[in-house]
Amino acid sequence: MTIKTIYTYTEDVLRQKAQPVEIFDKDLKTLIGDMIETMRIAPGVGLAAPQIGVSKRVIVIEFGDEYDEDIPDQLFVLVNPEIIHKSDETVAGIEGCLSVPGLVGEVERAQAVTVTGQSPDGKNIKIRAQGWLARIFQHEIDHVNGILYTDRTDEIWKPDHEEEDSI
Ligand code: ZN
Repeated sequence: MTIKTIYTYTEDVLRQKAQPVEIFDKDLKTLIGDMIETMRIAPGVGLAAPQIGVSKRVIVIEFGDEYDEDIPDQLFVLVNPEIIHKSDETVAGIEGCLSVPGLVGEVERAQAVTVTGQSPDGKNIKIRAQGWLARIFQHEIDHVNGILYTDRTDEIWKPDHEEEDSI
């Protein structure tokens, strides 16, 4: 696994709609391994392939229970992720992004989402997420659609200290 450079918002790749993955081969597994390693070192709780300069629809997330530190972090790898349902209820939360260093913003997101996609082996997956995990999924899926959180808010600022882990 290789630690990759994280691209920032000035790079075109972060503004493109990423390509669907059609071949579930060794190269895909290498990409996913590199993404996991890069996310952990950053450190971040999520990463999308365009953030390491690869215009493919792949996301990784590693996040634990937001209320209970004793529950270990869970790793999610999703290829061709898609939100198939969003709750009507929305919540505002403070987000940072590895590709927008040094800033945070308040973003309104659906409180819960249902996400589908494929595993690295091409098996279909469906995940229901709520709270912070739902927020991270929405943030990462935005990335594969060329959207940054800064597009979704006018309230962006430089925090006095390090806040939440970036996504
Ligand atoms: Zn991000």
